Amino acid sequence: MEIKTSPKHRKCKYPLCKNILSIYNHDAYCNAHLSREFKRNNIAKVATITKD
Ligand SMILES: [Zn+2]
Repeated sequence: MEIKTSPKHRKCKYPLCKNILSIYNHDAYCNAHLSREFKRNNIAKVATITKD
């Protein structure tokens, strides 16, 4: 059975986050930003802040 992996060297999509995602992490965010609660509460705020 194959283990599905994602492309190497993907960066976390969180604004200003430079973490590289593991090939075993199929999400768009690094572990620090994966929390659903974090997304729900903070992504919009940060997007606004970095909008400039
Ligand atoms: Zn991140």
